[in-house]
Amino acid sequence: MKVQTLKFIFTIALLASLSSCTDSETENIPSYDTLISNASLIDGLGSPARPADIYIKNGLVARITTPDEVNAVVANTIDAGGRVVAPGFIDVHSHGDPLSTPEFENFLAQGVTTITLGQDGDSPELADLGPWIEQVREAGIGVNVAMFVGHGTLRNLAGIGQNPNPGADDLQRMLELLNNALDYTFGLSTGLEYNPGLHAPESELIEMARVVGGRGRVIMSHMRNEDDDQLEKSIDELLSQGQYSRVHISHLKSVYGKGATRAEEILDVLTAARSAGIDITADVYPYNASYAGIALLFPVWSKTAEEFVIAKRDRRNELEEYLVNRIARRNGPGATLLGTDPYTGKTLADLEVELGLPFEEILIDVIGPQGGGGAYFIMDDELQSRLLEDDNITVSSDGSPTGFHPRGHGAFAKIIEEYVVNRNAMTLVDAIRKMTSFSAAVLGLNDRGSVEVGKAADLIVFDPARVKANATYPDPLQLSEGFDIVLVNGEVAFRSGVATPNLSGSVLTP
Ligand SMILES: [Zn+2]
Repeated sequence: MKVQTLKFIFTIALLASLSSCTDSETENIPSYDTLISNASLIDGLGSPARPADIYIKNGLVARITTPDEVNAVVANTIDAGGRVVAPGFIDVHSHGDPLSTPEFENFLAQGVTTITLGQDGDSPELADLGPWIEQVREAGIGVNVAMFVGHGTLRNLAGIGQNPNPGADDLQRMLELLNNALDYTFGLSTGLEYNPGLHAPESELIEMARVVGGRGRVIMSHMRNEDDDQLEKSIDELLSQGQYSRVHISHLKSVYGKGATRAEEILDVLTAARSAGIDITADVYPYNASYAGIALLFPVWSKTAEEFVIAKRDRRNELEEYLVNRIARRNGPGATLLGTDPYTGKTLADLEVELGLPFEEILIDVIGPQGGGGAYFIMDDELQSRLLEDDNITVSSDGSPTGFHPRGHGAFAKIIEEYVVNRNAMTLVDAIRKMTSFSAAVLGLNDRGSVEVGKAADLIVFDPARVKANATYPDPLQLSEGFDIVLVNGEVAFRSGVATPNLSGSVLTP
């Protein structure tokens, strides 16, 4: 009995000492939410791959060590098993509506963790974006979003619309709206090939550049004309804004230009501008067809519904002739693939056969400038690839969850599959730098774009050899594969081929 009592007391004492010992050790052992172990870490800054364990806490990268170096308490462990771990890709030109497709699975499946919305001059038409952003945040979103404010939208909000000569008061009102919008946005987007942006005189764009530059933001421009013989002129217009603000060319392309030499000429213009002190960058998507509304094919004087009625009535011959020449320069009717019903998946050449009409009559009498969108096979692979490989050019998708073009589901996967693995045109380290830290610098994003302690844990786990862009022109909504695990702000956002319900993205604050 006595012995038993003593033993009992000893056991209690031992347990007490053990538990206090455990407590004090727990205090010294750091704890983390998630560990990604056995990574081949490519940090996005251009450093070579290195073996690493990455610890995440409160949505941030908290610690990076060599494998198994740290004794830590970890709630979740993801074994990368030697696969590449890199920052999530940042898409500097994307489209979509976070309130209707909040998951953005098309982007997550290709390793994209941050997208940019409000592009091509077109953002939500609200004088105050704040409540809209709150609504998106409350509803939840699968990726991070960096917002831009659209120049065309500001024109509409200021009551300028399609007026080519805005009065001083209207202009002042637009500049005030711009300044307010920059509280929430990473810069101004322009869409100078579209209504109403195409009516803006250069002086107006320069006034806007002063405001954007004054706030340290960037102008992203869908330039006035992407035709090969107009490209330098379009770039010049942007460079004049570049005197006052950082400037960026969206989806840089030469429509019907050809060859690597021509690409070098275009790159030389950008290099010379940078030497002259202008901060200019550009993005390119890895496809040889563009995608836009059919109005893009029509002359400036017949793009809107009202203008079109008048043009059709008063200038029919001129309109036909314009379309014949324009389509001829754009590689013929077989190179325009319609992407909206009822003609989805058919080229203008297909429709000529089906309807028994020449394409210019189909464009005028059957489709019209408001009649949907299409993919235009107007780019040269050699030229575009050379642009893409340049160190000062980043990657965009210019795509959306619903767009009828494979770029929205495949662009970033295609860079890895095609340019890194198949063609050896860039190294994996360079491709990742381009699509992460360089894109972050273009946007002015300081808290993500590289795997470093203190940065957001937007991370992707993948084996480059297994990355595949599955989307095609006839079947553009196929998800990419090969990005096994995608983390957004430290939470698993995509795994085993599907988006999780976590919706851990955020609308980012500039
Ligand atoms: Zn555009």
